[in-house]
Amino acid sequence: MIDYHVHLWPHPERADEGELALERIARYTEEAARAGVGEIALTEHIFRFVQGRAVTEGWWRDWPEWGGLPLYARAEAYYDHHATVDLDHYVATALAAKEAGLPVIVGLEVDYVPGRMEAVSALLAGYPFDVLLGSVHALENWLFDDLSDATQMAVWESRPLEEIWRAYAGAMEELAATKSCDVLAHPDLVKVAARYPDRGVIDECEERIADAAAGSGMAAEISSAGSAKPCGEDYPSPSLLARLSRRNVPITFASDSHGPARVGERNAALLRQALAAGYRSVRRFRGRQATDADLCLPGSAR
Ligand SMILES: [Zn+2]
Ligand SMILES: [Zn+2]
Repeated sequence: MIDYHVHLWPHPERADEGELALERIARYTEEAARAGVGEIALTEHIFRFVQGRAVTEGWWRDWPEWGGLPLYARAEAYYDHHATVDLDHYVATALAAKEAGLPVIVGLEVDYVPGRMEAVSALLAGYPFDVLLGSVHALENWLFDDLSDATQMAVWESRPLEEIWRAYAGAMEELAATKSCDVLAHPDLVKVAARYPDRGVIDECEERIADAAAGSGMAAEISSAGSAKPCGEDYPSPSLLARLSRRNVPITFASDSHGPARVGERNAALLRQALAAGYRSVRRFRGRQATDADLCLPGSAR
């Protein structure tokens, strides 16, 4: 198994660059080995890095504030809190871990920012990444999955759910069309707060997301991170996973762990979901070039 979505710091914490060392990464790979995971991708959020912030600075002001809520201030505070680490140092440390023989590849989670992806891609082209995850965590300037923030959660109460879901599907289409990343992270993150429109709207949005993935050539991840959220379900839903499989969209596996303890979490369940949806291979990356490997079947030693 692989775990292609691993963060080095929990969200509430400010990233401590002093902790960014080989020993810290080795703790992740030790957990991975215990969980039967043979390779992990380090995929810290781009907004943790001062260089990432520099190429997207003030993006939240590209839209008006919804419903008079202080979304500019909330987004700015989020970036002030998180964007503290040097990207060069992160990449150099991850590369050193890889070169020391630890089973890691060098990646990043690239949060989609409409209108800024050319600048983001230009920045990232200067680094030897193995894999880039593309994710949608914001709809315009609303950080819809920041469930701990009362301001962000108030937006959920003030917009029609079908509008929110369609906006998310539209953002995923835009992200896929930029061809800036290799894997769509948590493809139906919009369900995180367990607020669902009618089934017909969900089906429409899943069709759009699956079409976008297929049209872009990107893979999609199966992630155990949703199970601990209000939605109580892995990403993607069984119905979206079936739609991805029908379109031959490749898959990766992900814990979206924000510390060593959850690396490879519930990977046997993720494997079962992949097999049930008809998948027989998993996509892997080196230098942003894809290869497909056979899925190890339950009970096999591989
Ligand atoms: Zn994410
Ligand atoms: Zn993540």
